[in-house]
Amino acid sequence: MNQEYILAVDLGGTFIKFGLFSPAGECVYSWKARTALESSGDFILLQAAEEARSAFTYCGLPLESLGGVGIGVPGAVIGGRIVNRCVNLGWGVFDLRKQLQQQLADRGFGLVHVQALNDANAAALGEYYCGAGKDYRDMALITIGTGIGCGIILDGRLREGAFGGAGEIGHLPVNPAETAYCGCGKRGCLEQYAAAGGIVARTKQQLTKSNTPSLLRHLPDLTAKDVLDAAASGDPFGLDAARFAGEMIGRALACISGVADPQAFLIGGGISEAGDVILDPIKESFRRNVFHTSTDAVIRTAELKNDAGIYGAYHAVRVHLENE
Ligand SMILES: [Zn+2]
Repeated sequence: MNQEYILAVDLGGTFIKFGLFSPAGECVYSWKARTALESSGDFILLQAAEEARSAFTYCGLPLESLGGVGIGVPGAVIGGRIVNRCVNLGWGVFDLRKQLQQQLADRGFGLVHVQALNDANAAALGEYYCGAGKDYRDMALITIGTGIGCGIILDGRLREGAFGGAGEIGHLPVNPAETAYCGCGKRGCLEQYAAAGGIVARTKQQLTKSNTPSLLRHLPDLTAKDVLDAAASGDPFGLDAARFAGEMIGRALACISGVADPQAFLIGGGISEAGDVILDPIKESFRRNVFHTSTDAVIRTAELKNDAGIYGAYHAVRVHLENE
């Protein structure tokens, strides 16, 4: 039996999360560190390798027992190795596998397999193997938070696309009339309406258009959570924002159905914590917009929350090593 440990890494714009998995597949140690964003993210992989070395020392494990590293990154990844831009880390296009292998080798690890993947794809794999996706061979995980991501698994396999862009639904062009730019450089992307910033922007705009009383009028730094909490207590502006975001997301799910036709859509990310307040308008919009073949697709919340990415990064490497 394989006696090697696997390190799973979930790389975010604020924190890097780590999980160390035993040969039996158990997460034996997990921790996080603030992401070293200096110098266009040049030190992030060095930092990850340092963290790995410290963890092995702390756990009393020989460095040669590291068998592989799975790393989820907030951007597109091609073929498990080439990063195709991560805007919020300052990264362009480069061979992450090669660079991380070098950083690990410089710290005394052997040459280990590094499997990189998009963070939403990692979260989808996590839910597929350990969470709300366990019962589905064909599923999509949609994460709605600061941005909107999606990972698509068909017939038990993650689909990443030829250019690493499969599931990038946050940038589906949903409004050709938009004049404001999205962070990606285009205008009218789904994210501009249904991610956290879009929900807040919509609410502020609607508040200025009327004098209807609202709990939200007097909050100094309005957040999407404030808006959805207000919706849960029946506030008209909160309800409007939830309905509008739900409408846009439901249409996007109908588009995914038309291409990939998954059995289930799992909704994760910070916005999903609002529960039925956001889930109900998503379901209603989906049922109205989807082609008749797929109206029975399940829409439900994801289960693993912040751990999905770590579990998915682990399984991405495990599957790769088992099929080698
Ligand atoms: Zn965009």
